[in-house]
Amino acid sequence: MPDNNKADIHRSEQRPEFWDLSMRCCQLAATVDICFFAIFLWLGSPILAWINVISVGMYAYAYRAFRQRRNYLAVMLIRIEVLVHAALGVVLIGWDSGFHYFLLMFIPALFASMHLRSAWILAICLWAYYVGLYVLMTFIDPLQPVSDIALLYVNIFNFTVVFLMFAYLTMYYVVTVTRAHRRLARMATTDPLTGLFNRRHMVELTEKLLAREQRQPRNLALMLMDLDHFKDINDQYGHELGDRVLERVADLLRKQGREQDFVGRWGGEEFLVVLPETDPVQARTAAERIRAAVETLDWTDVQPGLKVTLCVGISQLNELETFSSAIARADGALYRGKAHGRNRVEQAELEDLDPMVVEQPAS
Ligand code: GH3
Ligand code: MG
Ligand code: MG
Repeated sequence: MPDNNKADIHRSEQRPEFWDLSMRCCQLAATVDICFFAIFLWLGSPILAWINVISVGMYAYAYRAFRQRRNYLAVMLIRIEVLVHAALGVVLIGWDSGFHYFLLMFIPALFASMHLRSAWILAICLWAYYVGLYVLMTFIDPLQPVSDIALLYVNIFNFTVVFLMFAYLTMYYVVTVTRAHRRLARMATTDPLTGLFNRRHMVELTEKLLAREQRQPRNLALMLMDLDHFKDINDQYGHELGDRVLERVADLLRKQGREQDFVGRWGGEEFLVVLPETDPVQARTAAERIRAAVETLDWTDVQPGLKVTLCVGISQLNELETFSSAIARADGALYRGKAHGRNRVEQAELEDLDPMVVEQPAS
């Protein structure tokens, strides 16, 4: 059974970035301990120097364990190393050496890798250990004292390393969280199959646009599209191939759209394009271009002989009209296209407007 199944060192599979960071910390800590080895030899404290060699060995072993996905063993090794090393440093050369700062590094690591309750319990234990060391050093003298100036150097070195580690850790988490937010936002606004905006986001974007333009004349066109006889394509060639068709049509719509247009998947095989600053003639030209481009798409690599067409329903948003009413009119036009034989563009007339759904002008 892999070590990472242990209850308290969890989420390893969901949080690969945490384990990646832990491995980098092992490398960093081993480098710091190699520096300490040199510093203590120079200061004439061979015992302290050799303790660091053991530490480097433990970090090397922990690093290897992480690579083998034996995360529990690796984390235990690091914990033992930090706890023992901090205590030995403080007991041998004194509280002012600052070796206890490294214990503080555990706090973010605990909360990042464990369930909240376990993290709190261990954080409290860590606090007790910290207090215990502090109290102990008020009663005993350091066992291997070094000169005051050497103590100052060690202290500065220790808090410099801890500062750097905290800064790096914080930066790492901020970057990770920002990326995760972006990923979530993308997932919430796009359709996974086609990568186009999803229906909810199309509504949000259009409503925002309308709210912004409330006092200006609107010149907004909607194109609602529906693939013709798509069910037959699925039935004849399979759902997988149907998905390829949707992806390719979506690609085409994305390429045909202007920068200011919103292109989205409105439903199963329905797409919506919102065209700001577009008059009815321009909207019709754009829709005809899309209809013709879909009709002439080359499908030989997907299914030789496949023929795909669509119908487009266009509506021009009336100044006092709601978005959903304009969609309903585009839908009406679309189904007129279906009734008239498919592979067609139809434009909704303003007479299609239902007087009940028109916004009342503010008096
Ligand atoms: P019409 O020309 O009247 O629009 O006929 P149609 O067959 O396109 O319309 P219908 O509404 O009967 O069928 C739509 C089909 O689209 C049915 C559904 O299985 C299929 N569909 C919806 N979403 C997806 C999808 O994500 N992938 C695939 N492959 N098919 C889908
Ligand atoms: Mg449909
Ligand atoms: Mg259809």
